[in-house]
Amino acid sequence: MKFDNIIIGGGLSGLTCGIKLAEQGRKCAIISSGQSAIHFFSGSYDLLGKANGKEVKNPLDGMKTLAKNHPYQRVGLENVARLVEEAPQLLKRAGLNFSGKANQNHFVLTPMGIMKPTWLTIEDFTCFDHKDSFPWEKAVILNFSGFLDFHTLFIKDGLTKFDIDAQVKNFAMKEFEAIRRNPSEMRSTNIAKVFDQGKALEEFVQKVNELSQGFDVVILPAVFGLFNKEVASELKLKINKSVVLVPAIPPSVPGIRSQILLRKRFEELGGTYFLGDNVEEGCIENQKLVSIQTNNHGDIKLKADQFILASGSFYSKGVVAARDKLYEPIFGLDIDGDVDSSKWLDEKFFEDQPYMHYGVKTDNKFRALLKGQPIENLYVAGSVLGGANALKEGSGAGISLLTSLHVAGQLLK
Ligand SMILES: Cc1cc2nc3c(=O)[nH]c(=O)nc-3n(C[C@H](O)[C@H](O)[C@H](O)COP(=O)(O)OP(=O)(O)OC[C@H]3O[C@@H](n4cnc5c(N)ncnc54)[C@H](O)[C@@H]3O)c2cc1C
Repeated sequence: MKFDNIIIGGGLSGLTCGIKLAEQGRKCAIISSGQSAIHFFSGSYDLLGKANGKEVKNPLDGMKTLAKNHPYQRVGLENVARLVEEAPQLLKRAGLNFSGKANQNHFVLTPMGIMKPTWLTIEDFTCFDHKDSFPWEKAVILNFSGFLDFHTLFIKDGLTKFDIDAQVKNFAMKEFEAIRRNPSEMRSTNIAKVFDQGKALEEFVQKVNELSQGFDVVILPAVFGLFNKEVASELKLKINKSVVLVPAIPPSVPGIRSQILLRKRFEELGGTYFLGDNVEEGCIENQKLVSIQTNNHGDIKLKADQFILASGSFYSKGVVAARDKLYEPIFGLDIDGDVDSSKWLDEKFFEDQPYMHYGVKTDNKFRALLKGQPIENLYVAGSVLGGANALKEGSGAGISLLTSLHVAGQLLK
């Protein structure tokens, strides 16, 4: 099987890279062994919340202070300024609408009841201008009885710190009795499915309107619109006051919806998506990747002019740490990280952990290195790249989106 481009990994970076290439007529395949970090999506894409430990108001300014090997610096700040405009447009064409500006972080209310800075927030959620205030005085936090993945007391405590009069109320509905019998069934996706089927929304709205009398704002878990994204907007129209949705513990409903819509867009553009297939090894000749072999395709080799490695970080096994060895498991690529395992961790848990910066080493064109030499047609994008602690910086999705669009741009030249 031969494609123009094969992308290894079907997370945010693989999918957006594939969409950009397919939009320009490239015949692409994405091979993804499993689901990705999108299933854990908080509802917001971060660009840069902190640089060198200091809070950042304007991510584009903050990037200027990052180390030279940081992925944003390597993409080039002029390119970044262009790509931060391109990314939300590409997402919009897939049916995903976001609010937010790259030159000014806004804030979102987290499940821990604190305000977190971010770049792009999906339309279901509310963007706030300030991190230390909340624009209403009396808030009611409503939850489904038996739904353990929404921690209302954290939110209440957080709001109380902003001097908000916050109360928690639980309620039961007949439609959820069946899934409530088993705690493992009472998950956000199963609740969303009930609403998607058109059941229960009217009764739910009526209950919310009753229980929220006397309050300025209703806070609800984000369990609306798994397959039908209109459910969340319909809900907001029908509830007779402001509604703030807050993410529940994963699986994330807006995350799974995003994954479905991105994959749909890719396939509608003619892309081929192999889910549940693991790339096991590649055939490299004269510094070129000729073909790859996958678990499901057995002897059938998959060939392409160019390949993109978007296999994620440690979480997705794009990079693996064994007891005394750090490695990239498909091709054995060079790793930007310390070989000495005693240097991987800082014993102070909350400090910047060195291993979080590790990833696949590339040249300045984002081509993977093997024994110090670039593989001419194997490019690297997303969180498999090293050079940043995305968790500490609040830069995860930004790095994945911008490096993948940058790499796709290089291939289209
Ligand atoms: C749990 C979690 C939640 C996060 N939430 C957010 C958030 O809400 N906002 C934010 O800004 N950032 C978040 N991040 C940061 C995150 O790194 C990025 O947002 C981004 O989604 C990462 O995308 P990716 O495509 O680079 O990697 P991943 O999402 O990890 O995707 C990599 C894909 O490659 C596949 N793969 C790996 N090896 C192979 C192989 N050999 N063959 C075939 N396929 C393979 C995996 O199955 C996976 O589908 C989160 C990170 C994690 C780990």
